[in-house]
Amino acid sequence: MAIKIGRCAKCGDPNELKTLPSVTGLDGPLELTLLEMPVLACAKKHKAPVHRDFMLWLIGEIRSREAQIAAGKEEGMIFKKHLCGECGKELAAKSERKQAFPYELKYEELPPFKFQITMPLYKCTGCGKEQLRSTKQLHDHVAQSVMGINDAAGFPHSGYVLFIFGCLLFNYPVLSLFNVPAVLFGVPVLYAYIFAAWAILVGLMALAVEERR
Ligand SMILES: [Zn+2]
Ligand SMILES: [Zn+2]
Repeated sequence: MAIKIGRCAKCGDPNELKTLPSVTGLDGPLELTLLEMPVLACAKKHKAPVHRDFMLWLIGEIRSREAQIAAGKEEGMIFKKHLCGECGKELAAKSERKQAFPYELKYEELPPFKFQITMPLYKCTGCGKEQLRSTKQLHDHVAQSVMGINDAAGFPHSGYVLFIFGCLLFNYPVLSLFNVPAVLFGVPVLYAYIFAAWAILVGLMALAVEERR
């Protein structure tokens, strides 16, 4: 698949392929930085991802590397404990430092670029190994921090933001909040919620399509 440079969706000027030196998105403990990310930009400096699937692709690529970073295991439902991935002893309650983990990415035929995952490390009270609290703690913040990158880069909000929002609405833990044995207007709360959320999502999509015209 070749990248289509095309024209700016906002002003119609011809686009050019550019790179942004450094863009950072933050969410919770995760700091995500993209170095030399390829973008489309017009003469009026409107920016857009190089492909409409680019941000989703980015989320997938980052998540596929999560397990490469040494991490502990989370235990307990309410009172969470974090245990060392190596020896099983408890991790220190406080992090002493953050570390940046660099990776290289390549999108289609474009030149490679880099991203960095920066997360706090926790020392094991047993063996002393430094690690993330858990892979889940990283995983849970990837999509949101990519949305932060989208905003920091000056990209328009597009369908994928709704897609992520939709994923949040129809997944654990949001869904589990409504899984209660109660009835609303004669229907179980969970079903009522799914129908209401669905209606809202369809409404938002209609708005997004309008906006793009
Ligand atoms: Zn433009
Ligand atoms: Zn250990």
